[in-house]
Amino acid sequence: MAVATRTFQNLIGGQWVDGSSGETFDTVSPATGELLGTFPKSTRDDVDRAVAAAREAFRSWSLMPAPRRGEILFRAAEILVERKEDLAQEMTREMGKVLAEARGDVQEAIDMVYFMAGEGRRLVGETVPAEMPDKFAMSVRMPVGVIACITPWNFPIAIPSWKIAPALIAGNTVVFKPASDTPLLALRLAEILQEAGLPDGVLNMVFGGGSDVGDAVATHPDVDVVSFTGSSWTGREITKRTADQLKKVTLELGGKNVIVVLNDANLDLAIDGIVWSAFGTTGQRCTAASRVVVEEGVYDEVVERLAERARGLTLGNGLEDSVEVGPVINDAALQKIHSYREVGEADGARLVAGGNIATGAGLEGGHFYEPTVWADVDPNARIAQEEIFGPVTAVIKARDFDHAIEIANGVDFGLSSAIFTENVNRAFVAMRDLYTGICYINAGTIGAEIQLPFGGTRDTGNGHRDAGVACLDNFTEWKSVYVDYSGTLQRAQIDHD
Ligand code: NDP
Repeated sequence: MAVATRTFQNLIGGQWVDGSSGETFDTVSPATGELLGTFPKSTRDDVDRAVAAAREAFRSWSLMPAPRRGEILFRAAEILVERKEDLAQEMTREMGKVLAEARGDVQEAIDMVYFMAGEGRRLVGETVPAEMPDKFAMSVRMPVGVIACITPWNFPIAIPSWKIAPALIAGNTVVFKPASDTPLLALRLAEILQEAGLPDGVLNMVFGGGSDVGDAVATHPDVDVVSFTGSSWTGREITKRTADQLKKVTLELGGKNVIVVLNDANLDLAIDGIVWSAFGTTGQRCTAASRVVVEEGVYDEVVERLAERARGLTLGNGLEDSVEVGPVINDAALQKIHSYREVGEADGARLVAGGNIATGAGLEGGHFYEPTVWADVDPNARIAQEEIFGPVTAVIKARDFDHAIEIANGVDFGLSSAIFTENVNRAFVAMRDLYTGICYINAGTIGAEIQLPFGGTRDTGNGHRDAGVACLDNFTEWKSVYVDYSGTLQRAQIDHD
């Protein structure tokens, strides 16, 4: 499918408008360098206008019955279904992930938008017995106001949907600042929501760089919540920059996710799980398995088989059916990933596959890195501790099960973990003791479903969760309501004998 190159605009108050600076930036394919579109470099004035439009639209949107809001989201989900293939093709061009994964990314948005459409008929609060006679007690969710959604490039449509759909169903309005590497797919989602009937001003979108436009959105005094997914550095920066405003900031940050393989594991399954989790999306998933902890009885076999599989993966343009691993997002990412080659050597690890910038036929014009496996990695080595965000995994030997769990928990992040074992008792101990927000038994570290909470412990975030019903807490305030129909003054605890 040919994508026409054109200049796109911001979405403010229901109108597509140029940025006020007149300056632009391009989005290009990381596989080929093909130019896909030109977007405005917005200014703080543009952000002011977007936030003002969102504020103006807030009252009428928040008063629209939630089931009606849900119907608009339902229509958006239907349009996503109709356009799934076109969106996936465009995503592979813009972001690079192979087509099957791009389809999955769109599917995740479909799932989330349908799910939140349904929440329009739930948005469940509590009704509980009151302590006093003739008194009624309940809690209801209130919308918060204007939500800033700031998103990364690695899930160009899924992650925006995880934020925008729940924010909208709860009655909030949105200012959306997508990643500069994938503005086109973000724009497609906004177009679809507009087409589904979203009133003007309910969703606004400003394009531009993180340190100026992203910062202006996050720190704007009339933005009530910042919903952010991205790097730990940026998450910390936003937290500091908004601290004086006591702004609610929800952070989904990095990971150093682990797959544990025990001696009794089904090794065919485990190797499949590791290859998929470490090299799927070219390792550019927050849940990518960048560590593999293997019990010593099967260690040599796992290293050998994993290295062989990594060496056999086909790199290239994700639009081609035979390609298993696409490019990394840009040259800066490629250089960062490759800088860990020296780090791994200095750590004393043994390189058993990859470790080089990939070149050759079909890779010209793109940013490709060989799927890389380090063996004999010290659990405290930098390559076992730092998020590399590329197709690189570190294999670590464990003496036994307890040691494996200790290593698994021995990082600053806590997003996803997995264990391969045929022993049900150990599986349950692992479920209890792996201190991560997501845990898989006999599956890799990736594959979250949208109806459960998504997020992590420790430095992976600040205690909030995207997805599931839990994500509604990010976009609502609780109000506890007491109705006394006794006709007398009842004083709760004070009237207790
Ligand atoms: P960044 O933090 O660089 O960027 C994320 C978003 O923040 C982009 O829209 C970016 O804009 C914007 N941004 C950058 N600087 C600022 C700033 N100072 N103020 C406000 N906004 C800013 O992350 P990446 O895009 O590089 O994404 C990769 C990271 O995201 C990885 O660390 C990964 O682990 C994490 N991630 C976490 C997930 C999770 O759920 N836990 C899911 C997916 C990714 P611009 O693009 O213009 O720079």
